[in-house]
Amino acid sequence: MLVALTAVTSCSGSGRIIDAVVQTIDIVNNQQRTDVYRQASDPPYGPTLILPSGLRLDLVQDAPLSANYPDPAALPFGGNRRVHYQAPEYFIDIGGLPPATRSARASVNFSLDEYVRLPDRNGDRRCYVDAQIAQHVQDLRQAWGGPLVINSSFRSPRFNAAIGGAFFSRHMYGDALDVAVPDTRRAQDFYNLALAIGVDFVDAFSNTVAADGSGWVHIDDRGF
Ligand SMILES: [Zn+2]
Repeated sequence: MLVALTAVTSCSGSGRIIDAVVQTIDIVNNQQRTDVYRQASDPPYGPTLILPSGLRLDLVQDAPLSANYPDPAALPFGGNRRVHYQAPEYFIDIGGLPPATRSARASVNFSLDEYVRLPDRNGDRRCYVDAQIAQHVQDLRQAWGGPLVINSSFRSPRFNAAIGGAFFSRHMYGDALDVAVPDTRRAQDFYNLALAIGVDFVDAFSNTVAADGSGWVHIDDRGF
């Protein structure tokens, strides 16, 4: 019999934070155990990304890029949130992918390029899109019943800073997407659908949608 005694959700060791540490007591064997859980959808990811369509990508490491990420210790909030802000260690080598892979389906209606259309236009060859948010925007498209345009996805820390993005923007971690409002007369309906699909966070309507209904909806799966 195992009993999770305390959930210590972050642990700093040699300057790094690991995802989650759970102290477990094995009552039968009277032993204490420490388990480390790592969620594939959270940084630092792993060497393989499998998108909702089954598209499988081998990721690459990019130490100089990882080193550009803000230190999670500087976050204005606590440990169980900090675990979701570790610098990613693996990225999609978007600049090195053949055109056929870039235009391949990553979900039912979206190609890989649609998920990460901007990075190489910003001069960045590396990017990421989280499989869960990729599925969630597909769910949103299904609920809306028509085509959607993703107008912002991954941003490198350099690009995020250049455009004045939030210091800890989820766009840097590949689990945030800005989806253009597809019909200005139904902006509130579209926003309500975004709230209903089960993402972790939807930015406030007034932050991203103008009075005339134009703008976008920011959704992300930040992990809390
Ligand atoms: Zn956004």
